Amino acid sequence: MEITTIVALTFIGGLVLGAGFALAIRRDHGAKHEPTRETIPPGADAVLSVLPSSVVLLDGAGSVLKATAPAYALGVMRGQELAVPEISRMVQQVARDGQVREDDLRVEAGSNLVHIHARVAPLTSRYVIVLIDERTQAERATELRRDFVANVSHELKTPAGAIAVLAEAIQAASHDPDAVAYFAARLNDESNRMTRLVEQIIDLSRLQHDVLDDDPVPVDVEQILADAAAAVHHAVEAKSISIETSCVPDLKVRGHPGQLESAVSNLLENAVAYSADGAVVRASATVTDENAHITVSDTGVGMSSDQTERIFERFYRVDPSRGRTTGGSGLGLSIVKHIAASHGGTVSAKSAPGAGSVFTITVPRLKNDTVDGSGPQL
Ligand code: ADP
Repeated sequence: MEITTIVALTFIGGLVLGAGFALAIRRDHGAKHEPTRETIPPGADAVLSVLPSSVVLLDGAGSVLKATAPAYALGVMRGQELAVPEISRMVQQVARDGQVREDDLRVEAGSNLVHIHARVAPLTSRYVIVLIDERTQAERATELRRDFVANVSHELKTPAGAIAVLAEAIQAASHDPDAVAYFAARLNDESNRMTRLVEQIIDLSRLQHDVLDDDPVPVDVEQILADAAAAVHHAVEAKSISIETSCVPDLKVRGHPGQLESAVSNLLENAVAYSADGAVVRASATVTDENAHITVSDTGVGMSSDQTERIFERFYRVDPSRGRTTGGSGLGLSIVKHIAASHGGTVSAKSAPGAGSVFTITVPRLKNDTVDGSGPQL
């Protein structure tokens, strides 16, 4: 239990005990008072409201004497009653034997399912206090981490397995130079794919933990487009695709040039991979009042709107079998999304099957008078 909570509870214990005596004396005098609110002295109210947890205070019979507003918001209280049967049961047990109890529970708050940690303790011999902490965010983070590790292991198994099979094939074909050359080329592809995957996983986890090596600097967007186009030249040449770039003059944003280039080259890589040979891919940058918009568009295979909604999820691929031909991992767009977010912006996609796709990164632009470094902070 946090130290502030312990101090606060000791204080409330004293107040409640004092108030209990006051109530007993008043009862002795035959006064007709409700046995509820009067057992909560004004000081206790104030102390309860500063506790970091949601709090419900009950008497030994299980009647609620006080519940803080967050306890209602979490769905633990309804009207004057505890709304979670498991907590009511814990209260009865604590009132009976004075032993502290705690449990992780799921409760419905409106239409949401909320994870909570409930701790129920005796407060003096007459009262029971329930402290509740929301764990939904923490649970979600744990779930995401679990999924991520499972997905990474699965994704790494595919090229690792292929490398082992190809190595065996080379061994078996050692007297056939053509076969050796063929399998060696495939081995090279798989090892590149694995290297790319590992690099992307490292990028993603660095971005997610906001571990950024350098401070943000003013970044020239036209340069980013040029560098990103240069970074994908192998893929472009292999498919005889041409990349056309255009940018409004002097457009700058504040950020990390390496990351921004990686975001745009990820979009260009996809545009090239999902376009037919000889197609044209466009990368352009425009401005509105506050923002820079970097758009990458292609006339390739496109996607349905259902698919467009999911493509920014990690490891999501519209057609997993395409991954083998495009060398895709399903991580590229989640990296783009994180980079856009870490620059205070967003990325969106518009697409239709057979009609190509348009991806737009929108980030705050640096106005000319703020280029000196006093402009918007990331
Ligand atoms: P991948 O490494 O598989 O390309 P991404 O995260 O970059 O992973 O993309 C996720 C999925 O979105 C891809 O598998 C592909 O199906 C779809 N996608 C991305 N960009 C395009 C595009 N320009 N045209 C068509 N489909 C695309």
